[in-house]
Formats: sequence, C-alpha cells, structure tokens
Amino acid sequence: MPDTTLSRISNHVYWLPPGKPDRPSLGVVVGAGHTLLLDAGASAAHAHLLLAALSAEGIPAPRYVALTHWHWDHVFGASAIHAPLIAHARTARKIAGMAGYEWSDTALEERVASGEETRFSADNIKLELLEPRQVEIVQPEIVFHHRLDIHLGDVTCRIQHVGGDHADDSCVMFIEPDRVLFIGDCLGENLHAPTPYLTRRRLFPLLDTLLQFRVEHIIEGHNPSVMSWAELVSLADQMHLAGESVKQYGADETAAAHGLVALTGSAADADLLELIRSFIAGLASE
Ligand SMILES: [Zn+2]
Repeated sequence: MPDTTLSRISNHVYWLPPGKPDRPSLGVVVGAGHTLLLDAGASAAHAHLLLAALSAEGIPAPRYVALTHWHWDHVFGASAIHAPLIAHARTARKIAGMAGYEWSDTALEERVASGEETRFSADNIKLELLEPRQVEIVQPEIVFHHRLDIHLGDVTCRIQHVGGDHADDSCVMFIEPDRVLFIGDCLGENLHAPTPYLTRRRLFPLLDTLLQFRVEHIIEGHNPSVMSWAELVSLADQMHLAGESVKQYGADETAAAHGLVALTGSAADADLLELIRSFIAGLASE
C-alpha cells in the first residue's frame, strides 16, 4: 500500500499506513470539535505528508498530538506539527533525555557501540534524515500518568498506559464510539537487547488489557493492514501458546515446538516458531 494514502477506518478515524524506510502508522481522530493526531511521525517530511493529506480532505488542522511511546520514528515529526504534544510521564522523561543527544552519523554510531541505540534505529534514522541532520525534539506539554480522556466533540479518545516488552511507556488509544484501538508498537519485542525478545511477565498482562477493549479495528505501528478483532484474538492465542510452551520446556526450541504439537494437535508454523524464539530469548528477563 503506498504510504501517501490516507484511509478512513471508521466514522471519526483516519489512518496513514506505515511506509519506508521505517515510518509508522499515523492516526487521525476527527471530532466535531477538534482533530487529534496519534503519533507525530518519523520526520518533518513524514508529518508534512499527513498534514497535506488532511488539508486535501478538508479536515481541520490538529489541536493535539498524542504519542504512543518515545521511539524516534513516532516523535521526530512533532516539530512540523504546530499543536501541543500529549504523552505519558515515562515518554516525556525519555524525550527530555533525547533532547540532549546529537544526531550526526558519528554520534549515532557511538550510541550503537555503547548499546544505547539499536543498529536498526540508527540505520533507519540515516535513511529518513540525511546528513547534515538537524533534529528538533519537542517536549510534551500535557503529561499524564495512567490514562487520559480527550473529548473532541462527538468522539472521545482514551489514552491508556499499557507497557509491554517493546517500551515500558507504551500507551494505546481507544476511540469511542468507533471501537478503534491504536496500539503503536506495544505488542512488539524489546529491541534494545542483543536478541530481540518477549516475556510472559510483560506480554500476558498486556494481552489481557487489550482484549478487554472489544474493538472492531486495531491499528498497529508497523503493520501494513488494520487488524480485525478476530485477528487480534488469534494473535493473542498464538502468543499465549508460544509463551506457555517455553515456560514448560525452557530454552529447548525443539522441545517447545514439539510441546505445541501435543497442546494443539498440529505442528508449529513459522510465526509460532518465531514467537517461541522470542520467548526463549526473553527467559533471562522473566
Ligand atoms: Zn517502537
């Protein structure tokens, strides 16, 4: 799907799908009173793409921008959007730390070497923003701790902190009455480790929280499709199966895969094997 296409997901929600090099989904909630953006994008160019699409649709300029988590690809676009940032306290703290960074190739490589930055992030920042690279980090103006409701007229967006392995500040946005859930990268692995991983300790409670929303559409940060409720339930089942299997069989991947055959009656497919590997990599962090 081309990354310039703004799709309408529901009555009040629009979606700019993820694009290259590593641009995440951006969401737009259009109320009778105000427009709210969900995540700020990977760069000013990414944010401008969204703002131009809004203008072309006749959608009023954003009143606020709410962030799912602190990762660069979700926040660097903020300087191009002239609206206050809303963020969880942990996200705000991380962004305050990033404001002191340099973003040259040399500085990025130094942070990769020290383990502070991932190779994947550094490579994608270089592709998204060419040298000489100026990054203006915008500080959130509205900071919350657990959850926050934003009333936009005829639609409300509830932002709720959920955490997870990917980033402990991860939040999801529940748009009511549309039954849309914007979840950023919260189901993803922790990438700040030699081998990316998932843990039962963090993922299982997060799945329980997500499944309480009973929505129709789920928008993920880097998924090129909008997930249905049935697809989320199925993914949660797979994650539970893989996690339980690793709990039972430990770091023995073959035994965990065979254990799944006993549990489900069928062989583990490639996606399940990948999940098993993630949980094995996360055993040390359980
Ligand atoms: Zn992320």
